[in-house]
Amino acid sequence: MTKKVLKFGGTSVGSIKRIVHAAKIIKKEHENGNSIIVVVSAMAGTTNNLIEHSRSISKKFNKRELDVLLTSGEQVTSALMAGALNDIGVTARSWMSWQIPIITQGDHTNARIINMNVKKVNDYLSEGGVAVIPGFQGISKSGDITSIGRGGSDATAVAIAKIFQTDSCEIYTDVDGVYSSDPNKIPLAKKIDKISYEEMLELSSLGAKVMQSSAVQSAMMNNIPIQVKSTFTERKGTEINSEENIDYNKAVTGVAYSKDDAKITLLGVSDQPGVAADIFEPLSKNQINVDMVIQNISSDGKKTDLTFTTKRQDSSNAISLIKSNKKIKYEKMHMNDKVSKISIVGAGMVATPGITYKMFRSLAEEKINILAISTSEIKISVIINENLTIEAVKKLHRTFKLD
Ligand code: ADP
Ligand code: ASP
Ligand code: MG
Repeated sequence: MTKKVLKFGGTSVGSIKRIVHAAKIIKKEHENGNSIIVVVSAMAGTTNNLIEHSRSISKKFNKRELDVLLTSGEQVTSALMAGALNDIGVTARSWMSWQIPIITQGDHTNARIINMNVKKVNDYLSEGGVAVIPGFQGISKSGDITSIGRGGSDATAVAIAKIFQTDSCEIYTDVDGVYSSDPNKIPLAKKIDKISYEEMLELSSLGAKVMQSSAVQSAMMNNIPIQVKSTFTERKGTEINSEENIDYNKAVTGVAYSKDDAKITLLGVSDQPGVAADIFEPLSKNQINVDMVIQNISSDGKKTDLTFTTKRQDSSNAISLIKSNKKIKYEKMHMNDKVSKISIVGAGMVATPGITYKMFRSLAEEKINILAISTSEIKISVIINENLTIEAVKKLHRTFKLD
C-alpha cells in the first residue's frame, strides 16, 4: 500500500466549497488504495487577519499568545476537512499537534519540528482511516503551542513525509507547479517539470513563495522528492528532486524577486582594519542578517563608502545600532527601503560562461540601475529600485529565453 502525505494550502481550503472540492481529491486517492495523511493550512487570509488582530492590541504582542492565536486557523480547517471527508463517506479524523504530538524546538513563531509520535496515526491509517493534521503548528517540550514560520504547512508536510516514511509528499496549491517566475505576475512564465532541491531552495529563499524555503531545505537534507501541483486543474505539476535526476538544457531555470530588503549606505567611513567588523558585529549579535555588501574606496585611499542590505523590517533597528555605536566614524548615513531584489537561479549556470554580463547588459538596456550585487554558484542577485521590479523580471525572463 502506498502511503501519501497530501498538503492543501490556504487558497485550496479558502472556502467551504474549496474544502469540499479538496475532500473529493482526497477521497479519490483513498479509493485508489492509498493510505493518506492530509495536512491543511488555514483558510486563505486567516493567518494575516489574526496577525492584524494581535497588532491592534499591541505592536509587541506576546509571542507565546501569538502562537496560540495563529495556529487556531489550522485547527478550524482540520475539523472542517475531517467533517467534509466524513460527509462524503470517508472515515477521517483530525489530530491537533498536541494530540499526536508534533514536538518542536526553538522560539515562538519560528520553531521547527524535531519529532512526532507515529503510533496513533499509523494505527488509524491501518484501520483504513484518513488522518487530517494541521500544518504550521506543534508543541514545545514544555507543552506550549508553537508555530513554525509563515508558509510553514509545507514544512509540516515534509516532516510528516520524513517521520512517517511516506512514499510521496504532494503539495496541492493554487498554481499548477513551480514556474520560471511568479505566474500571477509574469503571464509568460513557464511551468518547470523538474527542478533540483538546490535551485528550488534558492528560488524560494529569494522570493518564490510557492514552497517555503525551510521545507525545501529539509526535503533536500532528507532526500524527499516533492510534487507541487494544482488543486484546481489535473495538469501535471513540478517534481522537486535531486540534481542527478535532471537534464539541464538551460543555464537559467527561473527568476525570483522579493520586496523585503532595504539598502543602507555609510559615506566617508574611515578606512582601517576592523571597521567593517565594528559595523557588522553588533548587527549580527542583534539577529540582523546582512545580505549584500559593497565597499568603494575613495580616491585618496583614506575613506570608504560602505553599502549593505538587510531585511526591510530590520533596517530601522540596524540604523539605530550604528548610530549608537561610538566606535563607528562616518560622515553620513542613508537608507533606501524602496528597493527590490531580483535573482536569476540555475544549476546550469556553472557550466555556462557569460551569464553575469548578460544579466547586467539586459538590465542596462532597460535603463535599470544596479544598486548592489551578490552571487553564488547557482544564482546572481541584484538590488534595483522597487518600481522597476516587474519590468526587470520580464526583461530577464526574455533574455534567458524562459518565456
Ligand atoms: P499555498 O497557500 O498553497 O501554500 P502560496 O500562496 O504559499 O500557496 O504559494 C503559491 C503562490 O506562489 C502562487 O499563487 C504564486 O503567486 C506564488 N509564486 C511565486 N513565485 C512562484 C513561482 N516561481 N512558481 C509558482 N508560483 C509562484
Ligand atoms: N497559515 C500559515 C501562514 O499563512 C501557514 C501556511 O499557510 O502554510 O503562513
Ligand atoms: Mg504556502
